[in-house]
Amino acid sequence: MSAALIKGKEIAAEIQVEIKKEVDQLIAEKGVTPGLVTILVGADPASQSYVSAKQKTAHDLGYHSIQDNQPTDIAETDLLSLIDKYNKDEQIHGILVQLPLPKHIDENKILYAMDPDKDVDGFHPVNVGRLMIGEPKFLPCTPYGVQEMLIRSGTETEGAEVVVVGRSNIVGKPIANMLLQKAAGANATVTICHTRTKDMTTHTKRADILIVAAGVAKAVTADMVKSGAVVIDVGVNEIGKTSEGKRKLVGDVDFEPVAEVASAITPVPGGVGPMTITMLMLNTLNAAKAQ
Ligand code: NAP
Repeated sequence: MSAALIKGKEIAAEIQVEIKKEVDQLIAEKGVTPGLVTILVGADPASQSYVSAKQKTAHDLGYHSIQDNQPTDIAETDLLSLIDKYNKDEQIHGILVQLPLPKHIDENKILYAMDPDKDVDGFHPVNVGRLMIGEPKFLPCTPYGVQEMLIRSGTETEGAEVVVVGRSNIVGKPIANMLLQKAAGANATVTICHTRTKDMTTHTKRADILIVAAGVAKAVTADMVKSGAVVIDVGVNEIGKTSEGKRKLVGDVDFEPVAEVASAITPVPGGVGPMTITMLMLNTLNAAKAQ
């Protein structure tokens, strides 16, 4: 493998040390402990593992953290009342509702009910709009993590050709928006590809920075990547279980062959995943400071 590894796990650990310092200072000087509630509806194993990882990190950083588990059949009105309760709770600065929600609940209704100043996932339309106009309050955690990895790995974004594969509201669209802003760690020329893109390789092959969030294992192969490109693999695809019953995960990029062409690449696991949780912690800290 010739590409350098951009190790999200290490960058995340570095940021967490910085966060912990600020948390201790906030507690000592203002008597404010950052408060985070994660709401989990139902018992989907992947969601459970994401939420418990978030809770563990919050706990390790000294946050006031609450895990609120609700049954799969919770009524939409009851979930809305719960959001309202946490909107009013002064000890809670950040609210995260783990998605996806059961089909009988309208996800948008739940997101819209959240106080935008506690929306540490950055999905409320007010926060999406703020990002769009270049005045962000909370950046969505995964794209925020991607941008921070680029900055801390010394990848120049200014003037770079960035190609994003995927146009979801939680990854593709926000990372594209963030990197085209007139701002430090951005100022890129951005192209977004999706399933209706014609001849995707002509686009991906131009990329100095290729960000892949398609949700399809090996969606990007070595022939689609320019020599020397920086490749960020956001994908998480389960391809079976280990002998100990743990989930076996791969990204959206055909890792080994692409690592022979790229100059730097993120691994899966240990790449973007740990950054997402860390940026949630940073958003919660900033919410606590602001409230
Ligand atoms: P999503 O909502 O399913 O969106 C996937 C996007 O990729 C869609 O816009 C789709 O296009 C596009 N796409 C799919 N296959 C493609 C292909 N072969 N060529 C070009 N475009 C293609 O997924 P998501 O929520 O954005 O997540 C993407 C991946 O990131 C998933 O593997 C997810 O598990 C992972 N993820 C990881 C983290 C983390 O913390 N590491 C966080 C969030 C998501 P259309 O719009 O045309 O359908």
